[in-house]
Amino acid sequence: MAAKVVIVGGGVGGVVTANRLALLAPEGVQITLVDATGIHTYQQGWLYVPFGEVEPKQLQKRLKSIVYDRVKVITKPVTGIDLDNKVVNMNGERLTYDFLVLATGCEPNPSEIEGLAEGSHHFHTADAAIKLREALANFEGGKIVVGVGGLPYKCPPSPIEFAFLLHEHLIRKGLRNKTELIYATPLPRVFHIEPLVPIFEERFERFGIKLSPFFTLETFDPANRRAISMDGTELNGDLFVLVPPHCGVECARKLGIGDAKGFLPTERNTLQVQGQEQVYAVGDCTNLTTPKALTAAQKQAFIVAENIVAQITGKELVKYKGQVGCVIEVGCREATVASFDYDNPPHPPKPNKALFQQKRNMRRLYWQIVPTALG
Ligand SMILES: Cc1cc2nc3c(=O)[nH]c(=O)nc-3n(C[C@H](O)[C@H](O)[C@H](O)COP(=O)(O)OP(=O)(O)OC[C@H]3O[C@@H](n4cnc5c(N)ncnc54)[C@H](O)[C@@H]3O)c2cc1C
Repeated sequence: MAAKVVIVGGGVGGVVTANRLALLAPEGVQITLVDATGIHTYQQGWLYVPFGEVEPKQLQKRLKSIVYDRVKVITKPVTGIDLDNKVVNMNGERLTYDFLVLATGCEPNPSEIEGLAEGSHHFHTADAAIKLREALANFEGGKIVVGVGGLPYKCPPSPIEFAFLLHEHLIRKGLRNKTELIYATPLPRVFHIEPLVPIFEERFERFGIKLSPFFTLETFDPANRRAISMDGTELNGDLFVLVPPHCGVECARKLGIGDAKGFLPTERNTLQVQGQEQVYAVGDCTNLTTPKALTAAQKQAFIVAENIVAQITGKELVKYKGQVGCVIEVGCREATVASFDYDNPPHPPKPNKALFQQKRNMRRLYWQIVPTALG
């Protein structure tokens, strides 16, 4: 059965889709994975770079080393996609497809907020995490504002986890009693997923982290080290770590079918791009309400691979039900987990050391578990 499947993006969504298809698709189906860098990154590890626990290079592997032989890898940036004629363009080089999977992720866009790029750090790219590591090395005490610089962004609990890790880093450096730690969020409380709120609140209280709710960042004044919210509230600080709002990457934005920030309109169950029978979207590039998380991208990739095979073999499409599960560090070498879907809220367990160990081990075990797409 001859069909050409082209997958754009070699992150979690793209690699798992490609490898799952390699396992499931009938003989004759060609699977091509196109990625701008040819590298796969375990992005979760960027959380630990500012604290000197890991180097970004230790979080990467070449795509060719983690895909099955059946998957052809092309290392080129996709510069345009012609949905009508089913052609992917890579700087003039053309690739035709029968099925297209968009797995291009999303990226921090600090320029969306005036002054944010100049005045605040973050850890949502490798380069930014290294710069933040340098800033923390030079920090000698004062006021640090951590939090959310704008929506949406990847891994919603990540700035909270960062605040807990920062608290412990400052203790180790003998600077905690010289440092005021503030957590700023546009939300009315610490987090939007209600069952996690008591856990986070208890830790904020225990660690002396002050919450600044309803803080919707409007502008940043780098000269005076001042974040200003929409209602005029100001937060001064010596160091800011505000996760910038994210947007879809350029080739997805250029498709012209996404929302204002370039996220792709995706049917919540089948994961087809709306209005496109043979185009799927997976992971952080979608406009799904599911958090932008590794486990969501992974689960969606399984569904997309299964649905492409179903279309090729004339079977019924299967449904993604919004499954996601995030292990979240909460300090004191403990973690909890939030697993939920479209219909069922999470029931996070009491923070414990086993989950913490699971999260820390993942950096090493990831490569044997996630890209293999074995289920
Ligand atoms: C600091 C941090 C901590 C996190 N912690 C967690 C966590 O604890 N738990 C969790 O579940 N998730 C976590 N995440 C989120 C998780 O890493 C992402 O949700 C996941 O990587 C999304 O996978 P993706 O395939 O959609 O996108 P990505 O992994 O970002 O991959 C996108 C790919 O598209 C490629 N690409 C982009 N543009 C082009 C182009 N024009 N042409 C070709 N290729 C292109 C890129 O090179 C990249 O390889 C975290 C993320 C960060 C940043």
